[in-house]
Amino acid sequence: MSKVIGLRCRECGESYPKEPIHVCEFCFGPLEVAYNWEEIRESVSRDSIEAGPRTMWRYVDLLPIDGEPTVGLYAGYTPLFKAEQLGRILGHSDLWVKNDSVNHPTLSFKDRVVAVALTKAKEFGYDTVACASTGNLANSVAAHAAQAGLRAVIFIPSDLGPSKVLGTLVYGATVVAVDGNYDEVNRLCSEAAGKYRWAFVNINIRPFYGDGSKTYGYEIAEQLGWRAPKHIVVPVGGASLITKIYKGLNELHDLGIIEKPETRMYGAQASGCAPVSTTVKEGHEVIRPVKPDTIDKSIAIGNPADGYYALSTITKSGGWAEDVSDEELVEDGIKLLACAEGVFTETAGGVTVAVTKKLIEQGRIPKDETTVIAVTGQGLKTTEAVAERLPSVLHTKPNLASLNEVLSGLVAGAAV
Ligand SMILES: *Cc1c(COP(=O)(O)O)cnc(C)c1O
Ligand SMILES: [Zn+2]
Repeated sequence: MSKVIGLRCRECGESYPKEPIHVCEFCFGPLEVAYNWEEIRESVSRDSIEAGPRTMWRYVDLLPIDGEPTVGLYAGYTPLFKAEQLGRILGHSDLWVKNDSVNHPTLSFKDRVVAVALTKAKEFGYDTVACASTGNLANSVAAHAAQAGLRAVIFIPSDLGPSKVLGTLVYGATVVAVDGNYDEVNRLCSEAAGKYRWAFVNINIRPFYGDGSKTYGYEIAEQLGWRAPKHIVVPVGGASLITKIYKGLNELHDLGIIEKPETRMYGAQASGCAPVSTTVKEGHEVIRPVKPDTIDKSIAIGNPADGYYALSTITKSGGWAEDVSDEELVEDGIKLLACAEGVFTETAGGVTVAVTKKLIEQGRIPKDETTVIAVTGQGLKTTEAVAERLPSVLHTKPNLASLNEVLSGLVAGAAV
C-alpha cells in the first residue's frame, strides 16, 4: 500500500483517487491529500529524517509523491537563525528568522511547492506545466520546468516588477501578461485549466503543490531542536503557506516526533491588500475580497483561495493578524531586517518583519517566548520597492584628499 491513499474533500470528506483534480464534485470544497498515517508512522522517526539529505526531501515520506523526487532536488533546508540584534531592537529575547530568501534555486519558499508539484506533474505524465503567479511562483515554475525538460506557460498580472518578469523569461518560459490583477489572472487560468491539458501547479494539481509548504514547518521544528515555537508570523497571499506550516507541526506531533505544538499562528499582510487581517481584526467569519493596492505584489491577492482555512488556523491556534502600510513594510521591515541582521528580503518579508514589530509592540507576542519570523523571499527581486528610500552613494576622486573631504563629518574617526 502506498503512503498516499488519494485525495479527500476538506469540507464533506468525500474520497477521490490520486488525480490532477482539486474540487469536490459534490460540495465544491477543495481537495487535499489523504495519507496512510499508519504506514508512515512505522517508517518515520527523528533518526530517519536526520539521516536524509540536507534538503526538503529529508521529509519525502510526508510528501505526496509516489516515486523518488525528480524535480527540485536541492530545495529547502534553509537557515533558521536567532535574530539577536533584531531582537534587541524590538525588545524581544527569543526571536528567530527562517530564511527562505536563500532557497535553492529561485530564492523564495515557492521552490518547495514547485519541487513537489513538478515531480507530481511528471508522475501524471504531463509535458507542459503552467501557473497563475504574483512573481515568485513564476520564477520557480520556469526554473524547475527548464531543469525537468518540461514546457512552461506562466500567467502574470501585467504590472509585475521587472526583476520577476526577467527572472521568468530567462529560463525560456512562455510568459503571458494578463491585463488585470492576480485574482483575474487566476480566474483566467481556472478556465484555461479546463481547456488545455497542462498541469497548472496552483490550480488542478494544487492539493499536491500545497503540501510542499509543510516542509517549512517541519524544518522550523527540527532546527529548533525538535520543538515547535510559541509564535510564527507568516506572510499571507493565497493563504496556503500559513495553513500548511501549522499542519506540518501538528503532523510531527501526531507521529510522536515533537510534543503537542502550542504555536500561535499570525498572518501578515500589506494594508493595501489585507482581506485576511481585516477579517480577523473585525472579528468576522467571512472574508470580503478586496482590490489590491500595494507595492507588495508577491502577496497582493484580494480573494485568497485558502482564506477561510487561514482564518480558522489563526483562530484555532490563538493567533492574530495584522497589516502594515507600504512605508512601514520598507522602513520597519525590509530596511530594519537588512540593517539588523544582514538579510535582504523582498516586500513580503518586509511585511512580515514589520507586522512582527507591531505585534510585539501591541503585547500580542510576549517578549520572551520563542518567535519565528517567516522570511519567504529575496530582496534583489524587488529593488524598486526600496530604491527611493536609501541614502545616496558617496562620490570621490581617486585621491586621499578628496576621500577625506567626502568622509569628513560622516564617519567619525575615519581620518587619522
Ligand atoms: C507566494 C508568497 C507568499 C504567500 O504564500 P501563500 O501560500 O500564497 O499565502 C509569501 N511570501 C512570498 C515571498 C511569496 O512568494
Ligand atoms: Zn465535498
